[in-house]
Amino acid sequence: MSKITFLPVLSETIVKGKPIQWAEVRSEAQRAEHDHFAGVKCVGLKPILTAPTGNQKLTKGEGLPVYSLSLAPANLSGYEVCPWRTVDCTRGCIGHTAGNARFPGTVLGRIARTVELAENPYRFFRRLLKDLDKAKYDTNGSFAYRSNAFSDIPWLSILPSLNTFAERNYNYTKSTEMAFRSLRMRKHMWMFGLNQTVYEQAEHLTLSFTGDNLKDCLLYLKEGGNVAVIMAKRKSDPIPATLWGFPTVDGDANDRRYMDPQGSIAVLTPKGGLDRTRKWVVAPNERLEDRM
Ligand code: SF4
Repeated sequence: MSKITFLPVLSETIVKGKPIQWAEVRSEAQRAEHDHFAGVKCVGLKPILTAPTGNQKLTKGEGLPVYSLSLAPANLSGYEVCPWRTVDCTRGCIGHTAGNARFPGTVLGRIARTVELAENPYRFFRRLLKDLDKAKYDTNGSFAYRSNAFSDIPWLSILPSLNTFAERNYNYTKSTEMAFRSLRMRKHMWMFGLNQTVYEQAEHLTLSFTGDNLKDCLLYLKEGGNVAVIMAKRKSDPIPATLWGFPTVDGDANDRRYMDPQGSIAVLTPKGGLDRTRKWVVAPNERLEDRM
């Protein structure tokens, strides 16, 4: 068998994948949801989620066990799953170059799941709902769910019930709109004391700094949201106490971003030989004025 290699994406332009037909996916997701809760049999459903033991990065640190959904990032499967991606993040995406993406079998699995989402959404959602139910059963409901390990899909717009299984739902996103929407929802809950179950279902979104969205990031932080940056440092180097005037947390020590204090910045170390000269990589001693 010939050796399969996945080359790092180093393009200076964004080549979009085929659009997924979301209206059709939504309607098939709803059909799958109906059948799942009605107990309609669907044979041969293989697991689709990565269990906490399958992803060391998400398991690190104290907190709930994290189950995650790993699709093939950007256009790697032929379909686009990162609508807000930038040239820099595509070039440096850990879903292309680091961690388990070094293993062709892992990448092929991610591609197969993404193709199934686009081409057989009924089966995709039956697998997903089955796994979420199982995770809930296995953990007595005490687990966290990260639905976009290597994608940026607004799952809540497709099937809101996906967020009713885990105790906490969280993701990183490059969509300012989605981030603010999630923050607004959480703020309403804090302000009006909506019940805990609703709060838990609201997704916690950390806005990723892209090099071009500084104003949005600063506004999000001021409003109590969380931001993630890549910092040009070694993993063993300490993180600065503040960045751009906001407190920081070590994003590598624990992936559970929903535990971060409101209005703080999660600092991540570059992975997979990422080009540190790109504008989305911040310097440890960087001042806000340097960016303005
Ligand atoms: S949006 Fe995230 S998952 Fe998608 S290519 Fe960029 S870094 Fe990777």
